[in-house]
Amino acid sequence: MSSEATPDERAEQTTETPPETPLDTARHQLNRAASYIDIDPNIVERLTYPTAVHEVTIPLKRDDGTVEIFNGYRAQHDSVRGPFKGGLRYHPHVNREEVMGLAMWMTWKCAVVDLPFGGAKGGVNVDPKTLSKDETERLTRRFTNELRNVIGPQTDIPAPDMGTDAQTMAWIMDTYSVQEAETTTAVVTGKPTAIGGSKGREEAPGRSVAIVARELLNYYDYQLSEATVAVQGFGSVGANAARLLDEWGATVVAVSDINGAAYDPTGLETHAIPSHEQEPEAVTHYAEETISNDALLELDVDLLIPAAIGNVITEANAADIQADLIVEGANGPITFIADSILADREIHVVPDILANAGGVTVSYFEWIQDINHRTWSLDRVNEELETVMIDAWDAVRHEVEARDVTWRDAAYIVALSRIAAAHESRGLWP
Ligand code: NAD
Repeated sequence: MSSEATPDERAEQTTETPPETPLDTARHQLNRAASYIDIDPNIVERLTYPTAVHEVTIPLKRDDGTVEIFNGYRAQHDSVRGPFKGGLRYHPHVNREEVMGLAMWMTWKCAVVDLPFGGAKGGVNVDPKTLSKDETERLTRRFTNELRNVIGPQTDIPAPDMGTDAQTMAWIMDTYSVQEAETTTAVVTGKPTAIGGSKGREEAPGRSVAIVARELLNYYDYQLSEATVAVQGFGSVGANAARLLDEWGATVVAVSDINGAAYDPTGLETHAIPSHEQEPEAVTHYAEETISNDALLELDVDLLIPAAIGNVITEANAADIQADLIVEGANGPITFIADSILADREIHVVPDILANAGGVTVSYFEWIQDINHRTWSLDRVNEELETVMIDAWDAVRHEVEARDVTWRDAAYIVALSRIAAAHESRGLWP
């Protein structure tokens, strides 16, 4: 990159080669944010690589007595602001490079909401649907044993992700606690409430998406009571976001699952439609009128919330998006090329690292509760979440206004500035 280029030009240059993997994406975002701020290039160089990637093999005794070997990973990106934090996923595509990229992504996400955590991600390359419950438990306990020396309540705190859940976290917590000979609830978050899980954790990413959506609508002078909203995905993130916005007075005209969307231009009764958890993939069964997921994305609404999977708004459909505003509920729903098309069309996009950070924020609350052996009420969790999200929103809004950048660039600038300040203060040893 030419140092003579303006920040805008340098940022532009970094979009020339579209990234393909989560690692490319995370590095691209790092370089793009770095191009806007006065940051020591040595810090950027350090942040380009993870602190460590732990790779283990996990022998699983199947129910029929045969032994199968799986690969397990834990990538720890940066811990300058606090312990590593991030999910563990069970998915056949999990690999070293993917967890490295997703760990970096977690570093940015924790920093944008100002949590005292760094980023990590891990997982096992297994299809959890092919495992019995007993096999999943054995795999999880053995994986925990292999990671035992690199995780801990003050070092690295895993959480659920794709293919893992509260039960998985309970097994990890139990295995770790037995080995340490003391009950250590704070070693993981996303646990059942019976063993130190937090109230409000499950709804938190959807709640933060709704909070950010409310602020974004307000910022651009839309009345919530008159705003129309379409939500792709009716799972943990999408259903909670859609229902909250509905409760707050917005008109939710479409929600979808993998089979298609329920559509009503006068507004859906979002509580009457089962979420993914209540009845999987049943959204269209409860609809009088249905449309496709592609059509949902192109509805002429005030606000679109893609909250299902990644890469749904691409070069192919970005020109056809009719929404004025987009809040990313899912991780990475918009490709790089699509993002620049939307920016050119002046469609404002709030990025995933800010919008769905409610999940990791309430994980942080869970960790605080565990360490202090205290339980917070649901009201307290939601109030504190509101405070964290509004503070983060204000910090990002400030960058949008001060630098005339997109919401995505502003969020990464906020995150990287905080991480860089911590690295500056601590220095490089030796
Ligand atoms: P979920 O499994 O609870 O629900 C996913 C929903 O998306 C379901 O309604 C499903 O039918 C629908 N869906 C799946 N494939 C689809 C497709 N091809 N087209 C349209 N709809 C499809 O998942 P979730 O926990 O709500 O996660 C959704 C997204 O949010 C993911 O990108 C996830 O990584 C991200 N996210 C989740 C959390 C969390 O804590 N749950 C936190 C941050 C980010």
